[in-house]
Amino acid sequence: MLLTVVVAIVVLVFVIESLLDYLNQSRAHAPIPAEVAHLYDEKERSTSINYGYEKYRLGLISSSLMTAVTILALTQGWLAALDSWVRGFTSNTVLLSLIFLAALSVISSALELPFNLYSIFSIEERFGFNKVTPRTFLLDLIKGTLVSVVVAGPVLALIIWLYVNFAEKFWLYGWLLVAAFSLFTFMFGTRLILPLFNKLTPLPEGELKTAITEYCQSQGYSLTRLFVMDGSKRSTKANAFFSGLGRSKMIVLFDTLVEKLTTKEVVGVLAHEIGHYKRKHTLAMFIMSILQTLAIFALLGWLLQYEQLSTALGAEQSSFHLSAITFFILLGPLNLLLGLLNNSLSRKNEFDADQFGKITYSAKEMRTALEKTAKDSLANLTPHPAYVAFNYTHPPLAERLRALL
Ligand SMILES: [Zn+2]
Repeated sequence: MLLTVVVAIVVLVFVIESLLDYLNQSRAHAPIPAEVAHLYDEKERSTSINYGYEKYRLGLISSSLMTAVTILALTQGWLAALDSWVRGFTSNTVLLSLIFLAALSVISSALELPFNLYSIFSIEERFGFNKVTPRTFLLDLIKGTLVSVVVAGPVLALIIWLYVNFAEKFWLYGWLLVAAFSLFTFMFGTRLILPLFNKLTPLPEGELKTAITEYCQSQGYSLTRLFVMDGSKRSTKANAFFSGLGRSKMIVLFDTLVEKLTTKEVVGVLAHEIGHYKRKHTLAMFIMSILQTLAIFALLGWLLQYEQLSTALGAEQSSFHLSAITFFILLGPLNLLLGLLNNSLSRKNEFDADQFGKITYSAKEMRTALEKTAKDSLANLTPHPAYVAFNYTHPPLAERLRALL
């Protein structure tokens, strides 16, 4: 019975996500909103539509395959088989769960690998975005794996250890551990991890630096960590972001952004990023996520006491890892709803940061910066509202431009 519910949820989540993708794709040829009508000529519009279609098709193939494999693994006892295979190596409960989860993540990464390769070296390449060389790809893969082994491994081991030793209070201790770890990553994650993958250089003295310094002084923002990142190492697409909290705050501009935009436009982008800081968006989003984690740990602690979470998958004895897998699948519909909530909050913050830039700097430069970066990345100008609600962290271009008029 529980297994039927679990499989039904896997199917339900797949159907909802695919339906959203389909709705979005079906609007590819919809009339373009007036605000962005001037952005593409006919050829650029059709290239943007083709790019969207290629990504849609690849996404559909990979999610169908992953869903099919998940259903087979659940119903054919593959997970239980992996569990008893790992039990042949160790009887230590913490080690057992760690090896099991590591093996599972290797298997799922291996399944996703061909799709990642196709996305980067075929789709992104054909549309002129890709800068990733096979060497960079391989190094990223190795470094990414090492970082998760070194960083996520010990945290996961501690969570399992807490579960084994404090069954009753596990939810609270587990949450405290994750909350402390999240706070650390939130403050220092970018500073510690990003340099492993990218080169960060302080913005050199010059016209841009002067303009940025002037703007920051006018806003009473102490400009400490402003870096230019070699985003061009992987893609021609331009970007910028803000991270950290208090004195650990940091702004990163992609070199592609600095190269493509005028000085005033870069300051416009920076004004938006500082808006996120001044209006406490990063802090609010962090608190939101900590509270959601608390709710998830409370549910996890409550449901882990039921052995059926493991035995439903065909295992003879219950284990943290099998129960956790069942739990996170059951959480699927709730996760979709949380995504809806978090993304709507994020889009509201983006509008708000735009307004901050509009008031403190210049709406005109912010508009042209948005137009240039969207055009340059072949952005979809006619996304479906339902798709936007579930998947967009930023409002569609037309809406942002309208709010900046
Ligand atoms: Zn933003």
